[in-house]
This record gives sequence, C-alpha cells and structure tokens, in this order.
Amino acid sequence: MSAVAFVGLGNMGGPMAANLVAAGHEVVGFDLVPDALTRAERSGVRVASSAADAVSGVDVVITMLPGGRHLLDAYRGAEGVDGGLLAAARPGTLFVDCSTVDVADARAANASAVEAGHRAVDAPVSGGVSGAEAGTLTFMVGAEADDLPVAEPLLSAMAGRVVHCGGPGGGQAAKICNNMVLGASMLAVSEAFVLGERLGLTHQALFDVMSTASGQCWSLTTYCPVPGPVPTSPANNDYKPGFAARLMAKDLGLAMSALEQTGVDARIGGRAAEVYRAFADALDGEPRDFSAIVETVRERSRPEA
Ligand code: NAD
Repeated sequence: MSAVAFVGLGNMGGPMAANLVAAGHEVVGFDLVPDALTRAERSGVRVASSAADAVSGVDVVITMLPGGRHLLDAYRGAEGVDGGLLAAARPGTLFVDCSTVDVADARAANASAVEAGHRAVDAPVSGGVSGAEAGTLTFMVGAEADDLPVAEPLLSAMAGRVVHCGGPGGGQAAKICNNMVLGASMLAVSEAFVLGERLGLTHQALFDVMSTASGQCWSLTTYCPVPGPVPTSPANNDYKPGFAARLMAKDLGLAMSALEQTGVDARIGGRAAEVYRAFADALDGEPRDFSAIVETVRERSRPEA
C-alpha cells in the first residue's frame, strides 16, 4: 500500500480520498478550506498543517483542484498560495493530477514536475460526485508508459474504469473531446424536445422513437433533459446537479482553448460553448444541472401563435 498525499478535498477530492483510505492506503490530506479538512478527517484521512507538510514524506501526490491556475500555483508555489509541492516532495515522487485543466496547463505542470526530478501523470475523471462517492469514476490517463503501472492501482481504488489515452496531456485531451460532444448533444436533444412540443409530440413518444433510432445518445437515454422518460435524470429532480452547468461551461471553455491552439473548425462545439457560457453566467452561482438548458431553449423560442 502506498503513502499518498491528497491536495484538494472538495466535492470530488473528499470522497476520492475516502475511497483510497477504504482501500487500505495511508492518506494525508490538505485543503485551504477548514470544513473540507474536517470532513476528510472523519473519513480517515490524516490532516496535514500545510500542503508542503502533506507531500513531504509520501510516494504519490494526488491533486483535485478547481483549475489550471490553481494547479500550476500549487505545484510551483505562488504568493498567497500554500504550495510549492514540487519543491517540498522527495525526489522521484509521482504526481497525479485529477483536476480538469487546459491541455497546455497539464503539459506545463508535467514539464515542471519532471524538471524538479519527479514523475507526473494527468488523470482527469468523468462520473461526477456520485461516481467519486461510489468509486466508479472513469479516469482518462495521460502518462509515460513507465508511470502507468504505479498510478493504475491507486486510481483503481477510485475507479470503474482507467483508460490510458497517451502521453502527458492525453487524459485532458480525451476529457475535453468527450465533454464537447456531451455539451453539443445535450443541446441538440433539448432543441429536439422543444421542437417536438411545438409539433404536438409527447415527450414519451419522441423518447421512444429517438432512443431506438439514430438520434440515440447518452444525453437522451441516460440523462434525458425532460421529466418522465428516464426517472433517474436530473430533470425529475428539479434539475439539481448532477453535472453543474458551470462545470460544463468550464469544460467547453477548455475545449475552445484547445480548438484555438490546434486550428480545428468546430462550429457545433463552438456554439455549444457560447450557449453554455451564457447559461452559466445567467445562473449567477445557482447550482443547476447542465440539462436544464432545455428550459432556456424553450424560453428563447418565439411565443406560440
Ligand atoms: P471543489 O471546488 O469542490 O473542490 C476543489 C477544492 O480545492 C476546494 O475544496 C478548494 O478549497 C481546494 N483548493 C484550491 N486551491 C488549493 C490549494 N492551493 N491547496 C489546497 N486546496 C486547494 O471542486 P470539485 O467539484 O471537487 O472539482 C474539482 C475538479 O474536478 C475540477 O477541476 C472540476 O472541473 C473537476 N470535475 C468535477 C466534477 C463534478 O461533478 N464536481 C466532475 C468531473 C470533474
């Protein structure tokens, strides 16, 4: 069993660290928010007094932070941030970042870690808070082949599936490609339901056709944006997240940044990014599932004659 430091014990990191403890690993954790530390302590994580203290005596450092800036500042150290993890860790420590960040930031973080004498992989996740709690996350891993056998057993304690996507940055690349499809497909399914309403179709009739026809997709069959056809979808729970609209807007923003860097002409993905950015901004911090975009489509449609 490995000695693991876990930095970032929020909605995702808290339950992920708890699953590592449950699998028998010795986990020392740190977060800037005292409440997060209290919750982690209750699940068996040993709480450190600083991030540097957490990482100084371990084999593996896992980070689960809000975004790329937080990651780079935590790795390299920055004013006002309790960090400098790369300097504080023993040489040869394996750094595993599970946050969702820009591909370029993931590669920069990896390069800084290697330069400091460590090893590093990016391993963003899909599956949300419920997947983190149940230990069924999908990890998309960007790693040198030698580092994978060290990271994989740890990730497995928190995972339903671990997919090696290629070298450094490969995990983040796969994550944003997938979420670009997810954002676009949720928007397309929502537009189809509102069009169906205007054309006199019931939600159930349209669902019964599309779910067994060529319009079939995850946004329809698992996460149906209208109440009724899929009882477990957030539409039946007043659109409580689930996968929050602000996180979808964030991930589509990362996809846009990658599209810009690569020059890919992705008009559907670009439009989905605009729509979700406006939706998340209008919510002004209210927690709302990303499938609630169907309400915006309805509201923005011309009034029926
Ligand atoms: P969160 O805001 O709940 O947790 C992030 C934690 O990091 C916070 O507790 C914060 O205090 C801590 N933190 C920030 N800077 C720190 C530092 N320098 N040192 C120590 N702790 C620090 O966010 P979350 O929902 O847990 O998401 C974490 C990451 O996972 C994000 O990158 C997000 O995009 C990604 N993600 C989230 C979900 C989801 O459904 N919530 C799903 C997939 C991926």
